[in-house]
Amino acid sequence: MVLLVCDSEVPVPRPPSPNVPLLREHLLRLRDEWTEAPLSSDPLEFAHRYSASGDREVAAFLAASLAFGRVASIRATLFRVLAPLGPEPARFLEGWDGEPIAGLTGIVHRWVGEADLLSLLRAVAAARREFGSLEALLVEGDDGEADLVFALTRFYDALRERSGVRRPSQGLRFLLPRPEQGGACKRAHLFLRWMVRSGPPDLGLWKSGRLSPARLLLPMDTHVHRISRYLGLTRRPTADLAASREATAVLRRVDLDDPVSFDWALSRLGILTECVREIRRSHCERCAVRPICRMSRPPPLHLR
Ligand code: SF4
Repeated sequence: MVLLVCDSEVPVPRPPSPNVPLLREHLLRLRDEWTEAPLSSDPLEFAHRYSASGDREVAAFLAASLAFGRVASIRATLFRVLAPLGPEPARFLEGWDGEPIAGLTGIVHRWVGEADLLSLLRAVAAARREFGSLEALLVEGDDGEADLVFALTRFYDALRERSGVRRPSQGLRFLLPRPEQGGACKRAHLFLRWMVRSGPPDLGLWKSGRLSPARLLLPMDTHVHRISRYLGLTRRPTADLAASREATAVLRRVDLDDPVSFDWALSRLGILTECVREIRRSHCERCAVRPICRMSRPPPLHLR
């Protein structure tokens, strides 16, 4: 058997061409099982706290932008960033003069600091004043390609231009990436999933006909990449744009109109430690995709 070596310490058997009916059966089961998983493990929960669409858009963009690092640290940062914006963050940004915000003094989230966050907020405020919404800004740069990688790149370029910074710091470049350069840019595609998809747990706020769920790419972090390899969705050894496109292409064969509807369940498997790198600690015995997983542990003897 040919083995691939990925970033996991465990070699993963090379996947054959996917058996789509079998994949569909078990992925649908997995998706159904995790649909109602609590949002508390996900930064999307912060956007659900607001009811107005503008507030949700602002909160979701900040939550996705800062969705890196440990869950507890992301939540602490989001509490701290959103609190000074009050109960209506969109309205706050409308009237904000761009001056430092007292509640953000000295804030640091890994390599992102106060100045980077203020620049991000200035960019969002300026874009929403000019276009009315971040959705309108994205649509402005959308040329109708098969996926939204180039539209996202133009979107972040436009935000960078409105950040008030001539030479963006490393932190600001990280917050405003360029997806066309080949990185997975998980946070960018996660933000799109939240805004464009309407099935739970996503917000479905962006209803422009052009931004259909069929054009979304799987937000590829290390958990989703590892499990995608186990299930034969990708052979790529690195969690990058090519891996995301490859896995999404397989998922389109399962659900043409909504391929990233499986992302919530796939990511929960990793984030909630149902499926971990050290396979003997994974809960294969209760995993819906076990029959199609190349890494599953054999069932205990009494269940065979
Ligand atoms: S069967 Fe086991 S190794 Fe495979 S995805 Fe499920 S938990 Fe992970």
